[in-house]
Amino acid sequence: MNQIAQLPARVRLAGISKSFASGKQAATPVLSDISLELEQGELVCLLGPSGCGKSTILNLIAGFEQTDSGAILLDGSPVNKPGPERGVVFQQPTLFPWLSVLDNVTFGPRMAGVKKSVYLPEAERYLRLVGLQDFHHHMPWQLSGGMRQRVALARAWLPNPEILLMDEPFGALDAQTRLMMQELLTSVWQKTGTTILFITHDVDEALFLADRVLVMSARPGRICAEFKIPFPRPRDVEVLVADVGYG
Ligand code: ADP
Ligand code: MG
Repeated sequence: MNQIAQLPARVRLAGISKSFASGKQAATPVLSDISLELEQGELVCLLGPSGCGKSTILNLIAGFEQTDSGAILLDGSPVNKPGPERGVVFQQPTLFPWLSVLDNVTFGPRMAGVKKSVYLPEAERYLRLVGLQDFHHHMPWQLSGGMRQRVALARAWLPNPEILLMDEPFGALDAQTRLMMQELLTSVWQKTGTTILFITHDVDEALFLADRVLVMSARPGRICAEFKIPFPRPRDVEVLVADVGYG
């Protein structure tokens, strides 16, 4: 057993259930008894069909929603509201249109009163990591969809979150940009070692990115399978990915 394996899991969901009530109708169970663990530095893909409850899991971990039962532990401590140690990236990057790339990326630390001498070098580092070192003063409307998502990635990564929660972040991009973003994410992740939960309904995306894939089934959402993807990727995974034109 290595040293990391002896530490508590970075994130642990223990027997989570969640229902949503609508009007006078009885609450519909969306998640049933979900348990999972994310270890330090892992990139785990949560894969499942639309509507199975993937975003609900992410919203619970992010603290945007509350569980009906079960616990969410971050480094062994329960969490039930949002916090800066959990960065979130959505499908739509939601940049402030009136702020430059640099001002968007540094918005959080500036609002929190962090000194410029602290946040600026970090912002420069992350903008370089996502390949936007020459775009600090561009406005969002001057950028392509992929570039806007790279700004969102740098913004989420800037506070050095313990875990990055990504909800189908490349789902709105064309196939070529998407492949580029997957490669970029892999490269930034390898350089930073951040723990990532990446949600997708795309099997090939999960196989391309993940250390480990958790597969969900729907109604109510359950984790029905789990498999580890070894590094280096075995040939059959490469062939599978190449088959759909991403090779
Ligand atoms: P996925 O991300 O896998 O597509 P979601 O987690 O968004 O699935 O949704 C799972 C189910 O929960 C869906 O049937 C959705 O309509 C329902 N749901 C999600 N959020 C809410 C909410 N805030 N209120 C009511 N129903 C919700
Ligand atoms: Mg979703």
